[in-house]
Parts: sequence; structure tokens; C-alpha cells
Amino acid sequence: MQIPSYVVQVIQTLKQNGKQAFVVGGCVRDMLMGRMPADYDVATSATTQEIISFFPKTVPVGERHGTIAVLIGGSAVEVSTFKGCMLEQSGESPAGLEQDLALRDFTMNAMAVDENGSLYDPFGGREDLKRQMIRSPRNEPEQRFVEDPLRMMRAIRFCSALGFSLHPTTYEAIIKQASLLPKVALERVREELNRILISDRPSLGIRLLLETGLLQHVMPEAMPMAGFDQRNKRHDKDLFEHTMAVLEAVPPRLNVRLAALLHDIGKPSTFSIDENGVGHFYSHHKEGCRMAEDIMRRLKYDNKTRADVSALVAEHMSRLPKVRNTSLKRLVNRVGEHNVDDLFDLQRADILGSAPPFNFSELDAMRDGLDRIRLEKPPLTQKDLAINGHDLIEIGLQQGPQMGRVFNLLLDVVLEDPDKNNRTVLLSIAKKYLVK
Ligand code: ATP
Ligand code: MG
Repeated sequence: MQIPSYVVQVIQTLKQNGKQAFVVGGCVRDMLMGRMPADYDVATSATTQEIISFFPKTVPVGERHGTIAVLIGGSAVEVSTFKGCMLEQSGESPAGLEQDLALRDFTMNAMAVDENGSLYDPFGGREDLKRQMIRSPRNEPEQRFVEDPLRMMRAIRFCSALGFSLHPTTYEAIIKQASLLPKVALERVREELNRILISDRPSLGIRLLLETGLLQHVMPEAMPMAGFDQRNKRHDKDLFEHTMAVLEAVPPRLNVRLAALLHDIGKPSTFSIDENGVGHFYSHHKEGCRMAEDIMRRLKYDNKTRADVSALVAEHMSRLPKVRNTSLKRLVNRVGEHNVDDLFDLQRADILGSAPPFNFSELDAMRDGLDRIRLEKPPLTQKDLAINGHDLIEIGLQQGPQMGRVFNLLLDVVLEDPDKNNRTVLLSIAKKYLVK
């Protein structure tokens, strides 16, 4: 196994100071799988204070967990005191490495390599990697999940990302301990959910969350989708299955994957049946937009992601039967230019996830229209107008709602006819508004 020279240097420095040191964790797994590790972790018998004293540049990233980032050769290596040694302060115990590995989440993450590339694998990690099995050291997942319930989501994330299976004991233990998930900080839950969503098998992860009972704690609002009969011939799947099909059919970008998961979240609460027994979901996109916003707020998504994803949910039904340039420009203005590709991908996937025959003609026409818009670059937003707030104040308008209404009016005019985007024309329209 080829360990980069800066990592070898870290290990050698620790050893020259009389300490044990090994490369451990996910990077060993990645190297054995022939993948490029995202980062390298080192476990050592040195205490955090010792680590800090051995290296010129360090950052205490998780001193409470015994982790110090060593900055070396333009990279950072996370160096941690052997797990389990922190409490006893017996860093020199010969059982240090094995104890450290025993406290890791899964056997495939519980292997170590020394600076010569020799593998230490006391819990059969390599065998489990070969069998593509997610199993805890000593096959004691329950204890592992009680210590840190996020490990249950990590297990499922590894299934989605690597195509591995949960060992039956892992699966059963998640079902048993699922209700502990609310103990975990929501930011950590969100990150694992994100990694499931952008993985190669996002629906596998969401299905496993549902089956094991974790979804109820991650996103209770999604539960009514499971098994929900849409009573509509345009749909050949229940709501959850439709959502999974859409999720698989959009590209692996976080916003559009999140929007796929949430696009029909407003359906169960807006469901109605007409006299012919046909199901309808009037305004479910609006309700869905509100629910998506609440869900993302609770999971502490940043403002930008929330705004982009809820705009995608709100507009996922916006198909323009006859593409008038103006209505398409209005749509681009509502959803935001930067979200338009995500919106088209979502709409295409939504069609593919419904009952055949698939008709993409409206969507194709919209795309052609968008290509034209991108080529011509007409004014699309308030920022593109030939006048600004100062100009309006100068002619006697007041800041606030009135000015907002005038800007909307002017933007409408300009979306309809870009030639009107000049100062004189816009000011004369605004003045008329004043007189009214
Ligand atoms: P990736 O880097 O792909 O997210 P990883 O397994 O490398 O996956 P890291 O967060 O980099 O995850 O953690 C490095 C190693 O630390 C893991 O391989 C595992 O051995 C251990 N580890 C990380 N998080 C946990 C946890 N919650 N419980 C137990 N061990 C963990
Ligand atoms: Mg890692």
C-alpha cells in the first residue's frame, strides 16, 4: 500500500520520539479498495500535548477526542491519541492500537497500516470488505450505536456510497436502536443525509432509512409518502416509489437530489378524491415548498440551499404548454437563473418516474427557449433594469412596498419587451404610476 511521503514523515517523527504510530480508519479502507483516500488519519500512543510539541505547525481540531491536525507539506494529517487511551492516560499500553481499532464503527474502518505498508486487521476488516459487508468489530453493533447513534446513518451511507450490505446483526441493531438518533446533533445527521443523497445509490439509502425506522427521526414528514396510493392514472407507483424513481433519475448534485426527495412532500396533506374516484393534489407544490423550507430549517441547512431547493419544489410543476418568451423569462426570474438546469433535470426525472408514455415535448420546447434566452441575455431581474432605487426616489417615490410594486411593474414591462429597458422609458412609466 502506497502511503504519501508526508504521512510517512508524520509517522516517523512520532516514532523518533518513542511513540507508536499507524495510518488508520477510512483511508486504509479506501487504499484496499483501490480508491484515492480523501484524507489520512494517524493513530498514536502520544498524548495531544506531545503531538503538539513534536510538530512545528498544528491545529487542535478535536482536542476533546484527542485529535490534532498536523500541517505538513501543504497538507493536513489528523493525528489522534489511541481511542480509549484518553481516559486512562496510559498512552503506552501495548494494547493501544487494538483497543483503538475495537472502538471504531465498522470492521472495514478498523484496520491500520504501519509506515512500511504492513496491514493490522484484528477484526476481519479485509474479509468484510471482500464480502462487501458492514459489520462492527466483534460483531457488537448495539454497543457501538448506543455510544454514537450517528453510526447507524454512517452504516447506511456506506451502503449507498459503496454498494455494500448491512450484516444482519448490523441491520437488526439499527432497528433496535433507531430511536436514539435524536440524541445526535442535527448538523451531523444532515451531513450523512447529504452524503446518502449524492451517492451512486441514493434510493437504496433512503429505503434503508425507512425500513430500519431511522427516517421517522430524520424526516418524519416523509413517512406518509410510504405506500401512499395516488389514485391517478398518470402514476403507476405509490408516492414513495415515485419519489425514489425521481431521486435516482436526477444527477448527483445536492440541490436537485434534495429537491427530488422533497418535490412531492406536500402531496399527502393536499390529497382529495373527485366524484370519479380520481386523486388530486391541488397546490401541493406550494404546500411542499413550505414543508421543504421547514424541514431544511430544522436540519440546519444554510440559507442559500434552503432558498434554492424550496424554489425548485415550488416550481417543479411549472410547465409552459406554449412557450411564450415572456412566461419563460418570468419562470427563470422566479426560480433563479442558477437553478434552471436543476429545475429541468427535476422535471425530466418527474416525468420518467410517472406512468408511460413519457412526453418531453413541453420540456424540450422550454429548454430551447432557455437556450435562446441564454444567447440573447435579455434583462431578467430587477438588477438588470436600466434604473435603480435612487432614480425612483429622485422622481418622488418612497422606499418600501410602493417602490417594490413599481419595480415589479417595470420588470414586467421589460420582460415583455427588452427594448423598453432604457432610462427614459422606465422613468416615464414610473411617473405615470405616481400620478395614479
Ligand atoms: P469518509 O472519509 O469517506 O467520510 P471515513 O470512514 O474515512 O469516511 P471519517 O469521518 O474520515 O470517515 O473518519 C475516519 C475514521 O474514523 C473512520 O474510518 C472510522 O474508523 C473512524 N470514525 C469516524 N467517525 C466515527 C464514528 N462516528 N464512530 C466510530 N468511528 C468513527
Ligand atoms: Mg475519511
